Amino acid sequence: MYNLGDSHPFSPKRIQMLIELLQEWNLYKEPLQPKPISPQELKTIHDEKYINIVEEVSSGTKINGVDLFGLGTSDNPIFEGMAEGARYQAGGTLLGAQLLIENKANKVLQFGGGFHHAHKNMAAGFCVYNDISIAIKEMTNKGWHVAYLDIDVHHGDGVQEMFYSDGQVMTISVHETGEFLFPGSGWIHELGSGMGRHLKLNVPLEPFSEGDSYLYVLNKVIEPALNWFKPNALIVQAGADAHFSDPLADNLLTTFDYEKIFKKIIELADTNCNGKVLFTFGGGYSPTATPRVWALLYLIMNNMKIPEHLPENWRTRWQQLLEKPIPETLHDELHAYEQIQRKEEIYSTNKDVVRRLMDSVAQHWF
Ligand SMILES: [Zn+2]
Repeated sequence: MYNLGDSHPFSPKRIQMLIELLQEWNLYKEPLQPKPISPQELKTIHDEKYINIVEEVSSGTKINGVDLFGLGTSDNPIFEGMAEGARYQAGGTLLGAQLLIENKANKVLQFGGGFHHAHKNMAAGFCVYNDISIAIKEMTNKGWHVAYLDIDVHHGDGVQEMFYSDGQVMTISVHETGEFLFPGSGWIHELGSGMGRHLKLNVPLEPFSEGDSYLYVLNKVIEPALNWFKPNALIVQAGADAHFSDPLADNLLTTFDYEKIFKKIIELADTNCNGKVLFTFGGGYSPTATPRVWALLYLIMNNMKIPEHLPENWRTRWQQLLEKPIPETLHDELHAYEQIQRKEEIYSTNKDVVRRLMDSVAQHWF
């Protein structure tokens, strides 16, 4: 299990809560069980030396200087079974990519993954192996063009870096500005290099950005970008940490916004790449919001009716375990957070960022 410890915010409880919620509703379909990825497959993205170090420290070997590889830090503590857990996570995302490539599925939800901060030879931001990049590579090796869309509140730096000069991969990250948030990158001038130039898009949003800004970015950046690039598939990192209750970031999405965002992304996949889309999870550190956001994604992907009321059993059990109140409904309460003062100013600053980004890239597309 990919478990960074009881006090670490990246908790496997989030997935357990989601599965139990879907089970209570009788809507849970047993997922395919992935195999852990092999060291050979990891080498498509990671350096052999890094892979060996991850494997060794994970089995208890003490090695000096592992912090140079981002390991043994507060973000990435070394835990027993770390390598195996990370290989299972990457195996799941790789399996998702293979299902799309082999035409065995059109829409895939990986119940995990989304480790977008992992670098070629360094762990970062709770991420050890970059499962998303491995999945993208599997597709580009088959000659596919891939669009990667990252709505996690943090910049998808690891994935962007791996494909910065790759003309087969478009990356689009919408995040809270790096001025205030880890990893501090993801600026509009990061546009890619060489063959990948003008294919790497970043929309750094003001802290306290709301759903209107996200929908604006979807309509004004993501939609035209995909209409032009026409990828063979879309891979989406659907981190839930842009939710207003997330303790690690400031943006203010509600479940109503997430519902609109997920529906729009699926519509864009249907229009631009024959519906081929692979979603992974990612960040999401509010234990009471994250399972609800991902349950919405599951229901929308499966064209299921959205049950509004959360099962009483589930709520009672998890309220006791978490010692936190859980809303009675899948959706947030209306007006669940206090209205912010600078609402209009934030929206207008974000629109300006979008305008400046599109001014510098769109002329190269059409
Ligand atoms: Zn995040």
